[in-house]
Amino acid sequence: MSYSLKECGLTPKRIELLNKANIFNSDDLFSYYPYRYDVLESVPYKDWKVNDKVIFEGILISKPATYKYRGNRSVSRFNVLSEDDVINVTIYNRHWVSQLKLEQKLVIIGKYEGNNKVTASNYYGKPIDEFLGINPIYPLVDKLTQKNVNDSIKKAFNKLKDKIENIIPNEFIIRYRLLNKKDAIRMIHFPKSYNEIRLALRTLKYEEFLKFNVAINLIREANDSTTFNQGKSFNYDDVFVLANNLSFNLTKDQLRSVNEILDDLSSNKIMYRLLQGDVGSGKTLVAALGLYATFLSGKQGALLAPTEILAKQHYKSLKTLFRPTNVKIEVLYSALSTLKKKDLLDKLVNKEIDILVGTHAILQDNVVFNDLGMVVADEQHRFGVKQREKLREKGDKVDFLLMSATPIPRTLAMILYGDMDISTIETMPKGRKPVKTYLINENSFMSVIDEIEEKLALNEQIYIICAAIEESENFEARNTVDIYNNLKEYFDGRYNVGLLHGKMKSEEKEDVMEEFSKNKIQILISTTVIEVGVNVVNATVMIIYDAHRYGLSQLHQLRGRIQRGNKEGICYLLTDSKDEESLNRLNVLLKSNNGFEISAEDLRLRGPGDILGTRQSGVPGFILGDIFKDTKIINQSRIDAKEIIENKDKPDNNRFIKLIEKESTSYMD
Ligand code: ADP
Ligand code: MG
Repeated sequence: MSYSLKECGLTPKRIELLNKANIFNSDDLFSYYPYRYDVLESVPYKDWKVNDKVIFEGILISKPATYKYRGNRSVSRFNVLSEDDVINVTIYNRHWVSQLKLEQKLVIIGKYEGNNKVTASNYYGKPIDEFLGINPIYPLVDKLTQKNVNDSIKKAFNKLKDKIENIIPNEFIIRYRLLNKKDAIRMIHFPKSYNEIRLALRTLKYEEFLKFNVAINLIREANDSTTFNQGKSFNYDDVFVLANNLSFNLTKDQLRSVNEILDDLSSNKIMYRLLQGDVGSGKTLVAALGLYATFLSGKQGALLAPTEILAKQHYKSLKTLFRPTNVKIEVLYSALSTLKKKDLLDKLVNKEIDILVGTHAILQDNVVFNDLGMVVADEQHRFGVKQREKLREKGDKVDFLLMSATPIPRTLAMILYGDMDISTIETMPKGRKPVKTYLINENSFMSVIDEIEEKLALNEQIYIICAAIEESENFEARNTVDIYNNLKEYFDGRYNVGLLHGKMKSEEKEDVMEEFSKNKIQILISTTVIEVGVNVVNATVMIIYDAHRYGLSQLHQLRGRIQRGNKEGICYLLTDSKDEESLNRLNVLLKSNNGFEISAEDLRLRGPGDILGTRQSGVPGFILGDIFKDTKIINQSRIDAKEIIENKDKPDNNRFIKLIEKESTSYMD
């Protein structure tokens, strides 16, 4: 049960302040947790060390002397007798201390400078006991102060404490000796000891993860029970015939993933599966075999790509793959002529197309399949949870496969994609050479020019990636147009330079890409290579400007584009950032070529929202829980969530589930 801030006894003015921090009711307020604690202990003078934060009580024994500067600034000095020691206190910008009376009792908080000297941050007339202890420090926004937050929580807690109910079912509170919610809230906000903080965290983290896991289970259950489809019938061997035509064998992980997908397709449970693996690990092929099985069962399939160029690339590679079969494939994107589109849509509804590849254009309502059986979406960060929902609704009970090139460790995937089954490709096809990556502490092409000239002389091609398109956009980052002009001049008459960015028309983009893939352009400058996803095996070098502006996973994906052929790729990360943290982060890419490791590091450093892009809104809001460190609690709560779901009839479990159902939209919105 949650109460309005007014019912918490707060004034309209205070409520307005709290609203700015997204605090709208008692639940929000009580779960506005401190991010750290300050400890104030009274330590005897003889034990003070220089630079210690100190608090002490004493009597004013000298009249404060104040010197005023310009702009209302001032410094005041006075002496305080504390026990038998005289302390010289300095305090800035409190000229009113001159009104203090001799013999007055004071509490001083400040920094010990040595030689009996303290620089005070504040002084008070109240007894010292009121300041000693562990003080929570809250995140602040706008004009909100620590005192505001502290005070609001105190007021609300005192008013409501007898109404605070447990959320976690009692059975589990007893089993793990957790705290009652009321005590947990008190101990996290007004702890009397470190042990209280520890106990409160233990309970509140468990509560967070338990809620999340029950929510995930409910979603999965809803998906499973309402969405049976008829299992597709096809012969597994026939599917693999297509793979036998290839010049290589499937890797073990590919084989396992294909089998997992085929099992889903043939069962009457609707597939809702994530296929994750590094760029170039062979996901598309795995998905294609699923689409082939769908075709063999007599149904249509769709493959969705985030950009037009990628859609065309998928189209091309599927066409090649399916050449030995009679599968009919088409590609749909918004730039198609109206006539061509109409023809395509007619064919689609008449089942003269078996597999439709395309961009988001496929999601539009006028795109009607005759008998859609499976949808594959190539995520590359760009499909939101809502778009995926729309896709699922597109077909009547279609099987859904999501491909992600940002692979994440399994335990994490189970949290972040908890609503899906997961297939993982960890091993790369044989013979792939890792991209050699260098960090260059200068944001200039010229620092690698010799290496570039060498590669160009060998007839190899180069990608150059910039964060911005035009100068005006982001004046701190190098931009494509500038670099394009410089390089054109520099290589004039020797090599051709091309430019590709998001603001170009799709035909223009297409032309440039075409020329690059035919080696008519040797140096391609582009905003992100996701836009240039076309497989150009001869491109072996990538230069990334302002590398510190990208996430590690994204950089790793980008360099995956030059790991396509059997020549060794070389990637130069350029940055003039001096920020040690940024540089350390980039160094991860020099050491590791494993997308799982890299994304884990990225997640650890930046949190899940950043990395998973549009899925951000689906990332559960763990306030206290740490998905890296709290694996024990996570795993236990996962098991307990199952138990709760399986024992819905117990009143306490039922109450808990009802509560989650009310809240769970916030998990998967
Ligand atoms: P992803 O979609 O994971 O980025 P792709 O499916 O596009 O990767 O595969 C990248 C390249 O590797 C393609 O040219 C594909 O034909 C090739 N490939 C896929 N599987 C294998 C394999 N088992 N052995 C060798 N090459 C493979
Ligand atoms: Mg791919």
